[in-house]
Amino acid sequence: MAGKVYLVGAGPGDPELLTLKALRVLKTADVVLHDELVGPEILSLVSPTAQVQNVGKRCGRRSATQAEINVLLVNYGLLDLQVVRLKGGDPLIFGRGGEEIEALRKANLDAEVIPGVTAALGAAAAAQIPLTHRRLSSSLIFITNHHSSASDAGDWPASISPTATVVVYMPGYAYAAAARQLLAAGLKASTPCAIISQATRPEEEVYITTIGELRSAPRLPAPTLLIVGDVVGLAKHGSLHEHFSTRGTIEEFLPLLGQSESFAQSQGITQVSERPE
Ligand code: SAH
Repeated sequence: MAGKVYLVGAGPGDPELLTLKALRVLKTADVVLHDELVGPEILSLVSPTAQVQNVGKRCGRRSATQAEINVLLVNYGLLDLQVVRLKGGDPLIFGRGGEEIEALRKANLDAEVIPGVTAALGAAAAAQIPLTHRRLSSSLIFITNHHSSASDAGDWPASISPTATVVVYMPGYAYAAAARQLLAAGLKASTPCAIISQATRPEEEVYITTIGELRSAPRLPAPTLLIVGDVVGLAKHGSLHEHFSTRGTIEEFLPLLGQSESFAQSQGITQVSERPE
């Protein structure tokens, strides 16, 4: 009897953003084939008896080709095993999930897709950017800059407009080229944009700028996403060129704690919790 292959979205990084269904299949899997983007906290949730294999890019080691991954999935599936193909974000967004489904169908294998929170949603939540907004943005475009270069400006969809929010996956650091493409698509140089690095992870960072100034943006650590559109003006800290970490440090928090303690005392509230050392 053949097994079953699950294409599972691991979400953007925070393990709490996994779905309950994803967690269930991770706990019962026989084999887990994962991408580099899937972090150790999520892998620690996998059944200890499962065989876990990284098929993504790793320093000093070439990543498996898509054809090799397809063969692995089919072979494990034919062995009556519960196979989990675990991908960052959602498996069907810039994740080659479609190619894997085709390979499984050709082999008559049963496949199930378990969706995940795609990076755009994690990044938007991190910076509190509403991706759509009644006044500012009536459409949302996910594109990838993966193959971008100065020479292919114009490849970006005609649907890019000032009333759309554009989320660029795999933007790389070719910011000048990305800015040229956005301007060529008809956006104004003053349109705000945000670079969001390692969204939903403890190291998460956000940099707010405009298309006109994008070329001088810092190279934040991968993975990063670029969000472009007037809605970026509504980001949590929306001021120009602002670079912030979304997680406060305890040092930033302590004075606030002091204020809340004195407020509590002034209100006659007894402190019940210990102040962190
Ligand atoms: N299937 C994934 C996307 C895979 S493409 C999804 O749905 O999210 C890989 C790209 O996703 C990265 O180059 C980066 O642009 C983006 N990405 C993934 N995780 C991210 C994160 N935590 N923060 C910012 N961008 C992320």
